[in-house]
Amino acid sequence: MALQLRPNCEYCDKDLPPSATDARICSYECTFCADCVETKLGNVCPNCGGGFVPRPIRPSRNWKGDNWLGKDPASTRVRHRPVDLAAHVRFCAMLKSIPPHQR
Ligand SMILES: [Zn+2]
Ligand SMILES: [Zn+2]
Repeated sequence: MALQLRPNCEYCDKDLPPSATDARICSYECTFCADCVETKLGNVCPNCGGGFVPRPIRPSRNWKGDNWLGKDPASTRVRHRPVDLAAHVRFCAMLKSIPPHQR
């Protein structure tokens, strides 16, 4: 099982190719861009309440052991679920003051 490497930000639909350094994921791989995580979501995943971390970059070349994008390509399934910001503000009102590792 490899990370799915979803192709876009769920919120703003920005393209997030495997090499994107501004892709952020929660533990369930809900995927957003860094700008949405920081300016809109308050580092609270709107789907699960967890925090986000930078998504690792999968190697684009077969450096070792056939573990690379050519064998495990990025997902092409677009998920675009714009967040209801008013609802999210209520949802994360209590959560955002709790560090992700204590949620
Ligand atoms: Zn975004
Ligand atoms: Zn999540």
